[in-house]
Amino acid sequence: MMKYLLFPIIALSFLIFTACSSDKDSMIVEGILYSNKKPVSIEISDGKIIRIKQTQKSSIGQQLIIAPGLIDIQINGYNGIDFSDPDLTAEDLEKIVKGLWEVGVTTILATVTTNDHEHLMSSFKALSNALADPKISMSVPGFHLEGPYISPVQGFRGAHPEKYIRLPDLQEFKQYQEAADNMIRLITVAPEFEGAIPLIRYCADNDIVVSLGHHNGTAEQITAAVDAGASLSTHLGNGCANMIHRHNNPIWPQLAEDRLSASIITDGFHLNREEVRTFYKVKGDELTILVSDAVDLAGLPPGEYTRWGGTVVLTPDVVKFPAENVLAGAASPISKCIGNMMQFTGCSLESAINMASRNPARLIGLDHVGEIQVGKRADLILFTMQDKEMDIRQTILNGDVVYQAE
Ligand SMILES: [Zn+2]
Repeated sequence: MMKYLLFPIIALSFLIFTACSSDKDSMIVEGILYSNKKPVSIEISDGKIIRIKQTQKSSIGQQLIIAPGLIDIQINGYNGIDFSDPDLTAEDLEKIVKGLWEVGVTTILATVTTNDHEHLMSSFKALSNALADPKISMSVPGFHLEGPYISPVQGFRGAHPEKYIRLPDLQEFKQYQEAADNMIRLITVAPEFEGAIPLIRYCADNDIVVSLGHHNGTAEQITAAVDAGASLSTHLGNGCANMIHRHNNPIWPQLAEDRLSASIITDGFHLNREEVRTFYKVKGDELTILVSDAVDLAGLPPGEYTRWGGTVVLTPDVVKFPAENVLAGAASPISKCIGNMMQFTGCSLESAINMASRNPARLIGLDHVGEIQVGKRADLILFTMQDKEMDIRQTILNGDVVYQAE
């Protein structure tokens, strides 16, 4: 029987790192374990972690922390390429995935948003065809369908185009899942519409995680959705109208529901510090999940770009419409959101990393990733942490170094 060792977590920077390859398929990685701040040596063979040993401090003066590769279950694109592009190619997907390796993200659910039927069919076909390269596809174990079965009401629908929003349709969803080669692992729906509960029940019965988002569900509707199998709130606090009833709004019942995890965007723009602190106090270390919700412009150099029928400005953190100085989309990778989470809430590095690795892996059922344990796939990141900012120095996927900072 395999022995599972789980070291607890936290960060600091003293030590060491050596990644020495004794032969082609094995490797030893050393550094400071993110959880307990102790020096550790991780032995990898055939892409898996086979041994974890506490070590003495090495004489090599690097100060790198080791954590599991990051997991982002809501990301719309990167490096200028959108997952919803129906013409997406394998080369496009490679460009996205390689860009994400540079910021420590080793696993994503490629997120496709509300569009017309033909467009969604084409997007999922393109995405599943783009998974041709086995190395690239290791980082994309599934897709997230956000919409089109969400609220059409302004504010709640966010940036989703109203004309394509429709009532939940199980038969249509099954067509998307077929086009996606059964790779849809997560769907964001609004619980308050006719057809939502049968769709939620079907998904929950078929290992598709259901998240509630872009909705104005009542407490009763949210409870019914959770009873039917919904287990997550999508970017809680966003996808919500600016003006809501102080008692009866969709946020309180989702916070109060212990069976719902909550994904949050902690880029410093989508939620204010007090919201993040409050959501974290309620959902805690187990049920909080960080997502980037990054749009395709993320990863590109800051500047002006043409998107959504106008000019937008990409800063290092976010995309804005310059005229109104209004948010147009997220652009911070979750490695950045981890530092913000620590800053806003005072949580430990261990907790913040778990929210972007262990917690999403558990929720989605990605049993092979998300933790540093014997038997798990060797997806690791080595990084420094200064002023609560992660600087990724090396990314390892399936036991191979896929990114090395200069
Ligand atoms: Zn959204």
